Amino acid sequence: MTVLKVITYGNNILRTPSKEVHKISAKIQKLIDDMFDTMYANNGVGLAAPQVGYNYRIFVLDDSGEKEQPRPKVFINPKIIKKHGAINSYEGCLSFPDVYINVRRCENVIIKAKDIKGRPFTLEATGGILLARAIQHEYDHLEGNLFIDHTRNRFETENILQEKGLPALEPDNLLEEAELEEKIQENEVKNPPVTNAT
Ligand code: ZN
Repeated sequence: MTVLKVITYGNNILRTPSKEVHKISAKIQKLIDDMFDTMYANNGVGLAAPQVGYNYRIFVLDDSGEKEQPRPKVFINPKIIKKHGAINSYEGCLSFPDVYINVRRCENVIIKAKDIKGRPFTLEATGGILLARAIQHEYDHLEGNLFIDHTRNRFETENILQEKGLPALEPDNLLEEAELEEKIQENEVKNPPVTNAT
């Protein structure tokens, strides 16, 4: 078991787009094992290879709850083939210790990827569930995008980053999501948000 060091915000590796994996070698399999060890050791829901210093298109996640059997999932060379709907969610990221911010996400996502044995699979996650949000979050890491780029409240996020001693927001990386924001606000009018701990 090897718990790797998690790279934190400010390191350029997190902004570098990752490369496809051409062969699932023993080295890649070991990396994936270590990514799971690192994710579980840090109580994370997901972890992408760049977060441990490798710009490969790989992420792992486990969306099981505390009292459930683990549900480890590996995504190699993933491609989001469809996403729609809009939700907001408070997210954290192992590369941003103790930071939780309100971000925009799609509600539904269909992703194609390869598993640890190189077998292709397609997975659909709907209803804005944790799995749907985690897939989008981890996929972003492979593109060099970060959850703060989806922030709904730039000023609140600036304050949190400063409070935690992390580098400031990078305005050039903020994503233009006017349509998503509009849909989230429409939903909020229909279903006022309920505050709950996640
Ligand atoms: Zn993350």
